[in-house]
Amino acid sequence: MSLITFLPDLPGCSVEQVSQTEEAIVITACATVPDACCPDCQHVSSQIHSTSTRSPKALPSSGRPVRLLLQVRRFRCSNSLCQRQTFAEAFAQLVAPRAQRTCSARELLRVIGEAIGGEAGARLSQRLGMKCSAATVLRFVRQAALPSSSTVRGVGVDEWAWRKGQRYSTILVDLELQAPIDLLEDATAESFAAWLESHPTVEIISRDRGTTFADGASRGAPQAIQIADRWHLIHNLGEALEKVLARHHADLKRAFLREEEHQPSYPVGLEALIPARLPSQAEQARIARQERRLAIFTQVHELYAQGWSCASIGCEVLIQSKLAQGFFTITFA
Ligand SMILES: [Zn+2]
Repeated sequence: MSLITFLPDLPGCSVEQVSQTEEAIVITACATVPDACCPDCQHVSSQIHSTSTRSPKALPSSGRPVRLLLQVRRFRCSNSLCQRQTFAEAFAQLVAPRAQRTCSARELLRVIGEAIGGEAGARLSQRLGMKCSAATVLRFVRQAALPSSSTVRGVGVDEWAWRKGQRYSTILVDLELQAPIDLLEDATAESFAAWLESHPTVEIISRDRGTTFADGASRGAPQAIQIADRWHLIHNLGEALEKVLARHHADLKRAFLREEEHQPSYPVGLEALIPARLPSQAEQARIARQERRLAIFTQVHELYAQGWSCASIGCEVLIQSKLAQGFFTITFA
């Protein structure tokens, strides 16, 4: 097996030399074709004017950073009608003009940024051998093209917070692509209706049970079917169920204690826990919240004792909380 098998793919290039420094693996490469097209007149030229070297960062190899030494030829344009006299050859599939990283390295950093964000992405990229700042990771994420929304058939709509509690806009999701396709400036019926009018292919609108998006959908796409999305239905059901159970907290506790009286291992004297006065609904809700906070407090201390980091504990508690709410069971389908 050739050593080149273990090196990053370099489309349109041949590897001339591979060497190592303390910092990186260095690959010297050049184009495989003898000529190039003028970017203005598309005339093919093989008359070399000069050469220079670019040194973009490439995908790492075995965790070690890889730097290219790319030999770039500058050609004379032989078309007498063309204004351009010389041009540098392009490596369209390998690296964009003036870019400091190859296309594949930028794409990997973009995927990392989308998955875990800028700061965590920067730390991970350093461990992977492709050191990058958080700002650069986020720049690659922002430069990614949004999916086309011109032929969307099913759209999910909900509020999206620029800053929670202060400024809200509207996020629109293609239900077939399962991906966001647009963000509106605000969360009003007017802007949603205007968006729908510019997308007449919409057939299904999945929304919350509020009136704002229902109004916008009726005005902007009267032909579309409106459905309440699964997340909001289950979220509303959970809230209603919690209120009902809190209202019957005393009955449930009495039923539990009566059941436990028949168990031989039941501790003697627990009957004294039955409150002399039944708590009000507000007290019941307060007690339920207190019990949830105590459970989270206990879980945090247990994870910390097991050696978990603060960030990992935060993620775990958040995930458990979302799972308890049924958040991750909801999909747009
Ligand atoms: Zn030309």
